[in-house]
Amino acid sequence: MFNLSRYFSTVSFILIVLAAGVLGPLYRQLSLQQMQELAEGRNVAMAQVFENSLREPLAALMADALGRDVEFLRQSPKSAALQASVLELMHNTAVVKVKIYNRLGNTVFSTDQLQIGESKLDNPGFRSAMRGTTVSELTHRDRIDSFEGTLAEVDVLASYIPIVGKDHAVEGVFELYQNVTPFVAQLQRSLWWVTAGVVVVFALLYLMQFLVVRRAQGILEDQEGRIKAARDTLEVQVAARTDELKRTNSQLEGEISERRQAQSKLNYLAYHDPLTGLANRRCFIERLEESLRENGRHGERLAVLFIDLDQFKQVNDSLGHGVGDELLVAVAARLSEHVRLIDMLARLGGDEFICLMEAVRSEDEVEMLAREILGAFDQPFKFGDHELFLTAAVGISLFPGDGDSVLELMRNADTAMYRAKAQGRGNFHFYTPEMTRDAQVRIRMENLLRRAQENGELSVHLQPQVETQSGKLVGAEALVRWNSPELGEVMPMSFIPMAEDSGLIIGLGNWVLRETCRQFVQWRDSGFDLPQVSVNLSVKQLERPEFIDVLEQILDETGMDPTRLKLELTESVVMAVSDSFALLERLRDLGISLALDDFGTGYSSLSYLKMLPIQQLKIDGSFVEGIGRNPGDEAIIRTVMELARSMGFEVVAEGVETEAQAAFLAQLGCEQLQGYLHGRAVAPAEFRARWS
Ligand code: C2E
Ligand code: CA
Ligand code: CA
Repeated sequence: MFNLSRYFSTVSFILIVLAAGVLGPLYRQLSLQQMQELAEGRNVAMAQVFENSLREPLAALMADALGRDVEFLRQSPKSAALQASVLELMHNTAVVKVKIYNRLGNTVFSTDQLQIGESKLDNPGFRSAMRGTTVSELTHRDRIDSFEGTLAEVDVLASYIPIVGKDHAVEGVFELYQNVTPFVAQLQRSLWWVTAGVVVVFALLYLMQFLVVRRAQGILEDQEGRIKAARDTLEVQVAARTDELKRTNSQLEGEISERRQAQSKLNYLAYHDPLTGLANRRCFIERLEESLRENGRHGERLAVLFIDLDQFKQVNDSLGHGVGDELLVAVAARLSEHVRLIDMLARLGGDEFICLMEAVRSEDEVEMLAREILGAFDQPFKFGDHELFLTAAVGISLFPGDGDSVLELMRNADTAMYRAKAQGRGNFHFYTPEMTRDAQVRIRMENLLRRAQENGELSVHLQPQVETQSGKLVGAEALVRWNSPELGEVMPMSFIPMAEDSGLIIGLGNWVLRETCRQFVQWRDSGFDLPQVSVNLSVKQLERPEFIDVLEQILDETGMDPTRLKLELTESVVMAVSDSFALLERLRDLGISLALDDFGTGYSSLSYLKMLPIQQLKIDGSFVEGIGRNPGDEAIIRTVMELARSMGFEVVAEGVETEAQAAFLAQLGCEQLQGYLHGRAVAPAEFRARWS
């Protein structure tokens, strides 16, 4: 910081020294001048005295001097007399020497005899005096010869004073030497005093000012300290505020980006299937809507292809949802990779996928795409030790033609897919308007089935099961029949899946169970003792928590012997019901037998099956059908037989229509047979008539 005190000290010091340096000599000069004037005045007065009192001898001497030599003058008695008079006048005065010059500059008189005769014609003082002006000169002399002896170290003032005659003409010049040593000494002393005084005054002034300045500096420093502190505080506050702002800013940014992320995640979730990462239903619908608007304007054609996996439910039920999910992800990847013509692929949910093809030029092009989709399933899907062959059904609807709205196009593609499914695994089908009529029929059928039970349109038929070796009746499978006044004889294949979808199967299944038991007991009571009767169970029935209670109630009501009752479950039923193991144990505890229906078509884990309290495996009719025709089917039957033997299961083959099939099965040790060969499912009366 600018040091005021130091600055002040320095500047003041310089100024004081300057002031002292100027004032001292100035004062000295003034004093000397004054002193000189005083002394000169005295010299002039003295000269006047000399002139007045020594006029006569002086004039005589002057007159004598003219034309005389020096020696004469020195030894002139007039000069000696004058000398005595002068000395008397000088007595007790400060005049130490007197000299008189004539107009020619010759020294006519001097208190120092030796100087008489000297010429002063060139002396400036003399010349001035000759012009009428008195001049003086102060000099310091190491020594000067005075009439009283020699003086050392004296200050003398020599004045040249004109001697003015009667006619005012200058007749000569007096030179008086006055000893001014005491004056000069006095002057010197006072000069010192004055200097000291000035210095003291200045010093005091300086000191006072210094104090004031220092105080001011203190105040300033204090102020500055405060200002600095305030500034520091401000800086700290600003820094803190900046920090805070930065933090808030980054926090805000963080929040914003978090929100943005959440938003984009939400957006992503809103439009994507979280499992497969494909677009979801909503996304597809919006895209299709847009396409319809666009393409509708430009007159372009579109195709919607509905894809449904054929056996996915079984896989999911038997291998578990984990594998099911993995499989869906793999299928999604496969479809995305293999299918080139797709403009958009989405997952609608479950095992349903859908895709959109834009700018369709011909139906052939769409067919090609459908084949490509089905071709994506040619290779098996691998999961650890599992290798699964899957197939899919593809239903296709076209725009324009098969609908104008998203809803219509999707629904019709779905309908076409059902038709493809009905044709067997791995098929595709274009939508036709009849399909809608079929679908309408299904809906109508459902409504009719709802009332069928109350209206007594349902009945239970029985199909015999015989011992392979003897052909003896060992049991019968109860199969529901529906004789509708509106639809005629409806086969279970066409209404059981619908009953399962609608939940009607629960009431229906329980009714069949009750009816079968009632029939069995009635027969037993009337003398026809059927060894065993089998009833099919739907997963929907088994899933009901009250199922065991209902079953026990039926057994109770009808008086049915549980040991004569067999329940047929498919693999998928067993796998789907969460606590199926405990449930089957309870059935087993009741004395009921259990058979695994449609065996070979599912994906059950054998180690799991082994733990289940199941007595019988039912080889699916589709394999039996292949006997003598399809070595693969025969191989499967052989494997099943071996498996069953090793695990201690009894085996019954269904769908046995020919002797050859029966012989093949007999040879492998299949204990029981069921099929048209031994009898179709027939009404109870007919059954009894045939088998009693
Ligand atoms: P399923 O349990 O596999 O029943 C065997 C089916 O094969 C029966 O068809 C039967 O009539 C038929 N069948 C028997 N022998 C032969 C044969 O030699 N050749 C041929 N081609 N077919 C034969 P149905 O009665 O039409 O029943 C079809 C399916 O409906 C049954 O298959 C069963 O899954 C289901 N179902 C029938 N009744 C009921 C029921 O009361 N409850 C439940 N939950 N499902 C039932
Ligand atoms: Ca069955
Ligand atoms: Ca079966």
